[in-house]
Amino acid sequence: MRIFDPHIHMSSRTTDDYESMAAVGVAALVEPAFWLGQPRTSAASFVDYFDSLIGWERFRASQFGIRHHCTIALNPKEANDPRCREVLDLLPRYLAKDGVVAVGEVGYDSMTAEEDEVFAHQLALAVEHGLPALVHTPHRDKAAGTRRTLDVVRESGLPPERVVVDHLNEVTVKAVADSGCWMGFSIYPDTKMDEARMVAILREHGTDRVLVNSAADWGRSDPLKTYRTGLAMLEAGFTESDVDKVLWRNPVEFYGQSGRLMLDEPADGEATFAGNSILRGGS
Ligand SMILES: [Zn+2]
Repeated sequence: MRIFDPHIHMSSRTTDDYESMAAVGVAALVEPAFWLGQPRTSAASFVDYFDSLIGWERFRASQFGIRHHCTIALNPKEANDPRCREVLDLLPRYLAKDGVVAVGEVGYDSMTAEEDEVFAHQLALAVEHGLPALVHTPHRDKAAGTRRTLDVVRESGLPPERVVVDHLNEVTVKAVADSGCWMGFSIYPDTKMDEARMVAILREHGTDRVLVNSAADWGRSDPLKTYRTGLAMLEAGFTESDVDKVLWRNPVEFYGQSGRLMLDEPADGEATFAGNSILRGGS
């Protein structure tokens, strides 16, 4: 199986995870900029985080033969914090960089007026920079949140084929399918979607415009959920080509719209990053 995880927060994961992902066929991934789990206290905190996404974390992934890309944005939750808003002025500088394949995660957390404004602003940045957008849907009040998300996407003028609406489930998939946007599904160990429910959705809606991710982060999550979904698809009678489409060709097609995927270069060229290796004095 060759696997492209289109949404995973590797900065929160260990080298053991990189090793086991590489062992099951994960060869590329996208790490979206997101919330750290505790509030940032200034825009400067984002600068170091964004630099690590395009620098150290990409290098770390390369040590396991995995191509690392990222998306850059002010996340929905921190859109409400006035201390973080200044980061909006810094985004254009990052959206111009190699390996930055979308604006994201953007969207709604609690659906406040501040979130409205920041969401629309960042979709406009995607239009301006010719990039796709990764849109998060809220975990509470999901149906209403998804409808409102699709309205804002429509008003932004960003073509639906450049937008993935993520964290969908049985309740929200149809509206997104009808909108022409890509449909993202996060497979978790005990909340939201699991592999069996994902297979049922694929049976009903087909494999077009579908992205499956582990969304693994600092919470209880599993970086091998993409692989496990592939296995569940095969068990359910999908072909190897179906699995390859969902787990590789679809994410390549979606994020390839950025023109910035780095799938041809060898991922393990450099032994150090700015003089730093992941070794701890070992040989
Ligand atoms: Zn995420």
